[in-house]
Amino acid sequence: ALGVDWAIQWLTLSAKVMSEHRAELIELDRAIGDSDHGENMDRGFQAVLDKLAQTPPETPGAALKLAAMALMSKVGGAAGPLYGTAYLRAATALGDSAEIDAAAIAEALTAARDGIVARGKAELGDKTMVDAWSPAVNAAGEVLAEGGDAVEVLAAAAEAAEVGAVTTDPLVARKGRASYLGERSAGHRDPGAASTALLLRAAATAAG
Ligand code: ADP
Ligand code: MG
Ligand code: MG
Repeated sequence: ALGVDWAIQWLTLSAKVMSEHRAELIELDRAIGDSDHGENMDRGFQAVLDKLAQTPPETPGAALKLAAMALMSKVGGAAGPLYGTAYLRAATALGDSAEIDAAAIAEALTAARDGIVARGKAELGDKTMVDAWSPAVNAAGEVLAEGGDAVEVLAAAAEAAEVGAVTTDPLVARKGRASYLGERSAGHRDPGAASTALLLRAAATAAG
């Protein structure tokens, strides 16, 4: 089972990864958006780091709630409220448990994805972050059903999110800023799907 140390490690690694991939996410958003996704995510996760230092959380749920608040107030754009909702729903799913097992991880991922869908109304194939989150949720459920542990569930989710992000390349965007481009949005990876894959990979790395 994973505890608060994992959650803090995940968020800390997320901040590092968002900073390292800032330019790459900016480039993806330059092609089909307004070039700010890397900046937005880097700023948001730096705020998460600040909050972690100020008020160290005591449970995984509290850590994700802290992240949700920082992301909602600092990321901005479309992604801020979407990620904020995702982390908040995940935090609520985890409750105040000190230790979370494979089933809790799968539930938290599902809650996060459902929050994004409730907020943004995107469907699978609309070329958004949902195209990374939904395969991750499905893969987590499959590994859980096979008796996988929390680390295996996270690894499967990360892998599926990475594949999901790549599958957005040929798609025409039907939600968000990229949808204004119509057919011209095809041939580029969705920035939010790319950031989702990075964040879920960080979750798996922090667990392994
Ligand atoms: P903005 O488009 O406002 O500049 P960002 O660039 O930070 O915001 O985030 C863009 C990302 O947000 C997109 O790549 C996409 O993954 C995601 N996104 C936008 N609209 C939606 C939506 N309705 N549902 C799900 N994800 C969305
Ligand atoms: Mg943008
Ligand atoms: Mg913007």
